[in-house]
Amino acid sequence: MAQLSDDCFAFGGPMMSVDEAVGLITTRVNAITDLETVALVDADGRVLAHDLAAPLPLPPFTNSAVDGYAVRNVDLPQAVEQAFPIDGRIQAGCLAQTPIKPGHTARIFTGAPMPPEAETVFMQEDVRIDDSGRIVLPPGLKPGANVRPAGEDIPKGQVALRAGQRLRPQHVALAAAFGLVRLDVVRRIRVAVFSTGDELASPGEPRAASQLFDSNRFMLMAMLRRLGCEVSDLGILRDERTSLASGLKQVAGAHDLILTTGGVSTGEEDHVKAAVESVGSLVLWRMAIKPGRPVAMGIIGGTPLIGLPGNPVASFVTFVHVVRPTVLALAGGLPEPLLPIPVRAAFTYKKKIGRREYVRVSLRKGQDGALEVTKFPREGAGLLSSLVETDGLVELGEAVTGVEPGQSVGFLSYADLI
Ligand code: AMP
Ligand code: MG
Repeated sequence: MAQLSDDCFAFGGPMMSVDEAVGLITTRVNAITDLETVALVDADGRVLAHDLAAPLPLPPFTNSAVDGYAVRNVDLPQAVEQAFPIDGRIQAGCLAQTPIKPGHTARIFTGAPMPPEAETVFMQEDVRIDDSGRIVLPPGLKPGANVRPAGEDIPKGQVALRAGQRLRPQHVALAAAFGLVRLDVVRRIRVAVFSTGDELASPGEPRAASQLFDSNRFMLMAMLRRLGCEVSDLGILRDERTSLASGLKQVAGAHDLILTTGGVSTGEEDHVKAAVESVGSLVLWRMAIKPGRPVAMGIIGGTPLIGLPGNPVASFVTFVHVVRPTVLALAGGLPEPLLPIPVRAAFTYKKKIGRREYVRVSLRKGQDGALEVTKFPREGAGLLSSLVETDGLVELGEAVTGVEPGQSVGFLSYADLI
């Protein structure tokens, strides 16, 4: 487990910006160093442990990019078309060991190796066959056209994937192209997830009239799994300090991160703060972010704890800005900054200066075909429908005071957030 000091999350100011939070997490959270080897088919979503240098060039041999006719450069027609007798037929997968004869052309197919001395390929669409069966090649083709030289994609020895890369299908494809069957990856980050609150019932259990079903835990567990974590579902803890404290302490050693939701506001029925303080240390980060409430950052026996607010939308947004970078830092992952894409606003919005706000929006094509976003009509941080019926968040920076229709705003798709 990655051990952290008790003052790891200490922060001096009264209000913390999102950038300060992410900066503090990435500099103070130690990456775990345990590795495991996985088969290529299981590598998607995992964090690569070492730099990967190309063991062979890509493509591995010089080959034709098209179906057509290969010639030597010295034979390329210059001013007028010229007829060439056919000498050989080279299919993908064959060995092409015989050099092409001067003044001849060879039939060649996409992906087939270039025969020795052939340097350029004419596309079959650009040639014609004359009455005697010769191939008539037009003038003016650039030497080397339609040929893929060995190593043009990636030369042998070049670092093709970096340690810390979270592997996506294209990275797995590259490893396969190198002929690898296994990859060394960082072991999965183990996260214990609790909900807290007397008003919560677990789906599948009886619900009293004053209770609601716990939805956050399932959202958070799903998000964590998408980040490649191994999740322990620890159910609901009651709003009571001693049972909270013993529940949290029990899981600390066996996990890399403890995640809770609810109970971290400053009301007297918010017991997570006191519970963590009785078994470890805790600071409340008052983040300048909406939706969002204070986020509790704690250490129990060297294990980090993040206490997210209970309101589902606040929980979602703070997960993205605090839990996501923490999980990436624990896994030694390369930073994956969230970069909003500019789109046109089709709504009006007033905003408080000095904090960052996230507006739930739907994406649509405007009448002129340009992408624009509309705002979910209601504001509440408890509205699950506001997350379900929208496509992403518009990020409004600290200095922004409002949005007018037609203005360009930065859009983050839910698909990019985790
Ligand atoms: P709290 O952060 O505990 O003050 O909770 C804020 C609001 O979020 C309250 O209305 C809670 O009922 C609600 N809430 C807390 N935890 C959850 C949860 N796990 N799932 C759904 N709603 C929750
Ligand atoms: Mg509560």
